[in-house]
Amino acid sequence: MTRFKPIDLHKKNRLPLVILVVIGVAAVGYYAFQYLNYPASNRWQSYQRYQKNPEEFSAVIIPAGQRCGDAPFAWPTTGLVFGLWDQSYRPGHRHSGLDIFAATEPGITPVYAVYDGYLTRQPDWTSTVIIRHPQDPLHPGKQVWTYYTHMASKEGESFLSEEFPPGTKEVFVPAGTLLGYQGNYSGDPVNPTGLHLHISIVKDDGNGSYLNELEIGNTYDPSPYFGLPLDHNTNPDDFPICDTEISNLAWED
Ligand SMILES: [Zn+2]
Repeated sequence: MTRFKPIDLHKKNRLPLVILVVIGVAAVGYYAFQYLNYPASNRWQSYQRYQKNPEEFSAVIIPAGQRCGDAPFAWPTTGLVFGLWDQSYRPGHRHSGLDIFAATEPGITPVYAVYDGYLTRQPDWTSTVIIRHPQDPLHPGKQVWTYYTHMASKEGESFLSEEFPPGTKEVFVPAGTLLGYQGNYSGDPVNPTGLHLHISIVKDDGNGSYLNELEIGNTYDPSPYFGLPLDHNTNPDDFPICDTEISNLAWED
């Protein structure tokens, strides 16, 4: 009868385990290093102060309807831009749009169409609309889309205008049309977002539909559309403000 040799068995099996542990420790260490060394934008550092006392920031709050210089798009909602285009909220993340914070309560601060176009709200969209602009003012011959989201309460009560019920398709909306109100909807009532509007400028797929706006490569840098420094790569810390003539203040809150 052969004696069982547990030592041999262990020796055979230990190496893959050791390799796995080493890889695991290295991976955890790598991500911990990334988070610890993650550059926080100076903008975010004042976020709580802004929520408690928006008046302190009145010089950098952009009003709805502002058109900066000869920019084609007007500003969609009153607030402060904490999240710029191509800003990174965590390692590996690239923000595809702008996050504009009103520092009010959900359902109060209006959101408007930035440019003439045709509005669609998919049947399952609670807080979101998208507008097709047949003539992209900056890319002649192409069409472009603007995407607006978080316009619902954290529990999923929609703040979108009643004129645009779920399933709305290709309804003409002039620039300045009321779309809804800023909300904090994330899809998870336990973890709502901070109250804000996320807006992005989305590329067309070439076949008359829009691309997935979560991919930054499917979106445009909004800076030239709004005439503001909205690219985080070139404006990592400051709040964007209009440094030329403001040509239009059309809309009221
Ligand atoms: Zn966003």
